[in-house]
Amino acid sequence: MRTERRILLPLVVAALLAGLWSAPVAAQSGGPLQPLVHVVQRGDTLFSIARRYGTTVDAIAHANGLADPRHIYVGQRLVIPGGVLPIDSWSAHVVRPGETLPALAARYGLPWETLALANRLVNPHLLYAGQVIRIPASTEQVGALHAVQPGESLIGIALRYGVGVWNLIEANRLDHPNRLLPGQWLFIPGAQPSWLPYPFRAVDLSPLPVPQGKALLVAVRTAEPVSLTGALFDRPVAFAEEAGVYYAVVGVHAFTEPGLYELTLVATLADGRQVATSAGVVVEEGGYSYERIDVPPGRSSLLDPAVIAAERERLEAVRGVFTPARRWHGPFLSPVEAAVSSYFGTRRSYNGGPYNSYHGGVDFDAGRGTPVRAPAAGTVVLAEPLTIRGNAVVIDHGWGVLTGYWHLSSIEVTVGQEVQAGDVIGRVGNTGLSTGAHLHWEVWVGGISVDGLQWLDPQAPWFNLDGASTSS
Ligand SMILES: [Zn+2]
Repeated sequence: MRTERRILLPLVVAALLAGLWSAPVAAQSGGPLQPLVHVVQRGDTLFSIARRYGTTVDAIAHANGLADPRHIYVGQRLVIPGGVLPIDSWSAHVVRPGETLPALAARYGLPWETLALANRLVNPHLLYAGQVIRIPASTEQVGALHAVQPGESLIGIALRYGVGVWNLIEANRLDHPNRLLPGQWLFIPGAQPSWLPYPFRAVDLSPLPVPQGKALLVAVRTAEPVSLTGALFDRPVAFAEEAGVYYAVVGVHAFTEPGLYELTLVATLADGRQVATSAGVVVEEGGYSYERIDVPPGRSSLLDPAVIAAERERLEAVRGVFTPARRWHGPFLSPVEAAVSSYFGTRRSYNGGPYNSYHGGVDFDAGRGTPVRAPAAGTVVLAEPLTIRGNAVVIDHGWGVLTGYWHLSSIEVTVGQEVQAGDVIGRVGNTGLSTGAHLHWEVWVGGISVDGLQWLDPQAPWFNLDGASTSS
């Protein structure tokens, strides 16, 4: 029994490895160029499959006529469309921690741009451990796979991709170039695979990776005007159009698990057609610290869950406001001239309880009566006393970005009032659940509390809209 087991183990490992790499198979009929077929494995999702082959959920769903992309089953054979290469000649490299694209390029003797292109990397500067990078055997193999549509001719296809007809005939070893069959796959040598479906031109994400508790700028460029919607972290992403570019600022919750998330985008064209695409968003650890807060006995009754819930509900009413016009035209001003006494994101324990809450704002150590100024232009959407947060003001700056000011000694604005950057909106105080005069400043992005200090940084991507990192 013992010896048998010793022999069996390497066999099992070999079988597991074989299983791992046999998942993608090429169909066995027809000429030398076959569509790539993936056999669905346990644990696969359409998203993970799309990422693995550098394509999109929508493209796979469309190519396989899937009515509901959430429903795939183990053993199902899925055609992977838009494969960039003749299959079988490419190898796969599983990224290890710390590996970079230039390092991989050097290792395989290929330009890094080729690897970025072939793998449709949204951000070529970012590889993550476990990512599968497809390595072409040579630069000559770079091209696109095209499924012939009814009525298409070889000349039409050559014109569309800007390649010579003879190159197509040669690359595909076509004996009868005039007889293309709908559904037949052609390899288009040298064609740059567009890794976004029409009308998408570019999807820029910045910063990547995005730390927990920070905001992410999404900039989408399209070939024609569209109506654009999106979703990330199971929440809708609202876009605002400016100079032909669709922008969204997305808040990453301070407790979002680090990892890879899918941003889905749906463009609706003028004729009503909808086209979807997706991009990977990597969330990294925010590096927040821990602190214990002791609430004086007289005030701990304020931690009553019913009071907390009622006040949260009041704030929810304004949290999700989305005004399409952007009201800032440069970095935010600091709301007070004072040192930071408590940073955003710090995991908190109240009176020795569990660290299951976090500091949702930035505390400034300013004395009672210090003027509090609007960091940017906006509209006051809340100005009233609250039980926990004390005298509170919330300003809407557009694009789903709002700022909140708690514990004020006085409120000097009214709801509906337009403020400019630098306008005094109230005074620092110690009202509500506060252990001393200070300003608690919140920044909400798409309804999520994020680190306000990121909004005081002139280098933040939403203050440099033309300088956002570009990939297409
Ligand atoms: Zn605070």
